Amino acid sequence: MDQAAPRTFNEKALLLGGVYGLLGLITNLWFIIPLYGNLSLHLGEVFVIICLITRGFYPAVFASIITSTGLVYETGNYTFFVSAILEIFVLNAFLRKGVLLLLADVIFWVILGIPITYLTIKYIYDVTSGDFIQVILLKQAVNGVLIVSIAALLKPFIPLRLFSAAAEPEAPKLSDRVFELSLNSISLPALIISLFLSDSAADNTEKQMENVLKTRTEHYVSYLTNYVDYHLNSLRSLEAVVLQNDLTDVERDVMLNKWNQIYNGFITMLIANQSGLIISGSPAEFYNNIKSETEEKRKVIDRDYFKVPKTELRAYVSEVFQGRGFGDDPIIAISVPILNENNQFLGIVEGSLNIPKFENIEESMSVSDGHIIIKDQNKNIIYSSPELNLNTLDHFEIVDISPTFTNRMRIFELKGKQYLYHAATTGYGWRVVALAEPSILIGSYGHNFLRLTIILLFIAILSLAVTRRFSKQITKPLENLVRNFAAHRPIQDSASNIQTSLEIESVREQLKEAQYLTLEYQESLKREVEIKTSELVEMNEKLEKMSVEDDLTKIFNRRGFEKSVYEIFKLSCRNKTPLTFAILDVDHFKVVNDTWGHSVGDNCLVMIAKELKEHFQRETDFVARYGGEEFVVFLSGGNIDKHCRMLEEFRKKIAGHRVPANGNFVNLTISIGVYSLENDFNIGYHHLVSKADELLYQSKNNGRNRITCASQ
Ligand code: GH3
Ligand code: MG
Ligand code: MG
Repeated sequence: MDQAAPRTFNEKALLLGGVYGLLGLITNLWFIIPLYGNLSLHLGEVFVIICLITRGFYPAVFASIITSTGLVYETGNYTFFVSAILEIFVLNAFLRKGVLLLLADVIFWVILGIPITYLTIKYIYDVTSGDFIQVILLKQAVNGVLIVSIAALLKPFIPLRLFSAAAEPEAPKLSDRVFELSLNSISLPALIISLFLSDSAADNTEKQMENVLKTRTEHYVSYLTNYVDYHLNSLRSLEAVVLQNDLTDVERDVMLNKWNQIYNGFITMLIANQSGLIISGSPAEFYNNIKSETEEKRKVIDRDYFKVPKTELRAYVSEVFQGRGFGDDPIIAISVPILNENNQFLGIVEGSLNIPKFENIEESMSVSDGHIIIKDQNKNIIYSSPELNLNTLDHFEIVDISPTFTNRMRIFELKGKQYLYHAATTGYGWRVVALAEPSILIGSYGHNFLRLTIILLFIAILSLAVTRRFSKQITKPLENLVRNFAAHRPIQDSASNIQTSLEIESVREQLKEAQYLTLEYQESLKREVEIKTSELVEMNEKLEKMSVEDDLTKIFNRRGFEKSVYEIFKLSCRNKTPLTFAILDVDHFKVVNDTWGHSVGDNCLVMIAKELKEHFQRETDFVARYGGEEFVVFLSGGNIDKHCRMLEEFRKKIAGHRVPANGNFVNLTISIGVYSLENDFNIGYHHLVSKADELLYQSKNNGRNRITCASQ
C-alpha cells in the first residue's frame, strides 16, 4: 500500500466528501440509538469512514467536519471537531501502512481518543463522578469501534466504481483479509449484543436499587406512622381514663406521670380543661415550673394542639418544631379532645413527642450506602442522615435534574453531589426520602463496559492468532506448490499434508498437468532450437565463405585474398622473405563478351581461375579474382626470378588455351604486372599493389599478352 493514493484536493472530491458528510449529519441528528440513561450511539461517522476508504483523505476530512457539526450542534462542544479529524488523520496514516481498519481504530482510541475524551468531559463538561467518566470514555471508544466495524463490514459490498482512482483498494494479504472478516463478523455482533446486555443489566440494577429504596421508604413510613399512631392511641386511652374516673388533681398528676413513664416517647404530657388551662403535667419538674405561673400563663388556648381538637373535635398531630425547655430536639405535639357522651368538649390530653432516633433504625436496615431525609408537611427537615450534613428543621425542597445515567430513577443534586432517590408520604403528611449514591449503578454499568472492552480485545487477539494459523494453512501449501512449479521441481502426486483442502488439491492437480505440458513443450522447443541453431551455423559458415570467396570462380575474392595475404605479407617483410605480387588482366575481354556473350566470358573467367589454382599450388601461394576480369597472385619464399618464371609460364598457358564457345573456340591472352620485394621490404601493401598495377599498365601499353616484372 506504500504507493497508495496521492492526496488529491479538488472540487469534485470535496463535493463527494460533502455528500458523505451530509449523510453522516442526517444520521447523527435523526438516527440516534439510545443506550442507557442519556448515553446514545451516533453512527453518522460510518459515512465518514466509508468516504475515507473510497475517496481518500481530503474528502473524508470535509465529510468529517460536516458530520461532526451534528454532534457539536447537539452538545455545543467543539472538541468533537478536533477528535473526529484526528481520527481520520490517524486512520488514514495507518491505512497507508496497510494496517487493518479496525485495528487502526482501536489503536487510535487507546492512544488519542480516550485521553482526549477524558480531558473533554473532565474539564469541559465538569463531570466529577469518576465512575461516570469511565462509562462515558468506554462508551465513546465502543461507539468508535462500532462505527469502524460497520464500515469495515460494509466495505466488501461497496461497488468498485465508488472508489476513486486514488483510493482504489489494493489486494490485501489473505491472512489480513481472513482476520478482518472474522474480527468484524465476531466483534460487531459481540459489540451489539454486549451493548444490549449491559443496558439490560444496568436496567436490572436500577430496578433492584429502586426496589431497595422503595422498601426503605415504606419501612420508614410505616415505622413513623406506627410510632405516631401508637402514641396517639395512648392519648386516646388516657382520655378515656380521665373521662371515666373522677380523679382528684393529685391522682390525675400521678396517673399522667405513670402514663408518661410507659410512653416515654413523649418528652412532656399535659391535660388542659375546656378553657385551655393546664390542669396536669408530666414530668413533675416540668409541671411544677408551670404550676407556679399565673393562670393566664398556664393557658394553652392559643396553641393549635388545643384549638384544633376544641373546634373540630378530633385528634391533632402538629408539624415539627424545636422543643423548648426540655432540650432542643425537634418535637411534634399530639393531642386528643376529651369528650363526654354528649360529645361535649371538656378539654385535651396532649403529649409532645420526641422525634425517634433514626440513626438506630438506619443501622438496623443494614444498608451502608443509603441515606435518608424525613420532612414534615412544611418541607422542614425532621431527620436526615448525618453524613448529608443537613440541619434539622431547615426548609428543604427536592429539585429533580435530568437523568444522565438512569433510565427511570429520579435524581437530584445536593451540595454538588447527585443522588438517586425514592420518596413516599406518611399518613400525617410527612415525606420520607431514601437516597442512594449513583456509583453503584454507574459502577455496574461501567464494569460491564470494561468487561466488554477486555473481551473484545481478547477476541481480537484470539482471532488474530487463529486466522494467521488458518490462512497459513491455505497459503503455505499454495506457496509451496507455486515455488516448486516455478523452480521446475516435480510437483508431488499426492497431498502434501493433512491440512490440505479440495481446492488446494485441485490446484495441485492442475499445476502438475501444467508442469507436464510445460516440460513437453520445453523439450520440443529445445529440439527445434537445436535444429535451427545448426541451420544457422551452416548458414553462417556459408555466409562467411561467401564473404571471402568469389561466387563465380570459387577462388578467393579480393576481401578473402587480402584477409589471408595481409598478415603473411607483413611477416615476410619482417623476415625479409622474398615475395611477389602480380596483377593479371584479360586482354580485350570486352570484345570477348561482346562477341560471344557474357556466359562465354564467364566460362573464360572460370577457366582462368581453375588454371590459377592448379598452377600455384604451394601453401604460400595465393590467388584471387580481384574484380571484373582481373586476378591477383601472391607468392612468397624461394626467389623472385622463379616467381616471374612461373607467372610467365602461366601467361603462356592461358595464351595456349582455347575456350569452347558455341562450337568455336575463344583464344584468350592475359597481361601481367609483377612487382617483387627482394632486398628492400620497406613498402606498404597498397603501394605494392599500385606498383604491380603500373607494371600491368606497361604490359598493356606494350601490346598486351606479356609480363612486366620489376623489384626492389
Ligand atoms: P583491355 O585489353 O584494355 O583490358 O581491354 P578490355 O576489354 O579487357 O578492358 P575493359 O576494362 O574495357 O573491359 C573489361 C570488360 O570485362 C568489360 C566487362 O564486360 C567484362 N567483364 C568484367 N567482369 C565480367 C564478368 O564477370 N563476366 C563477363 N562475361 N564479363 C566481365
Ligand atoms: Mg581490366
Ligand atoms: Mg582487360
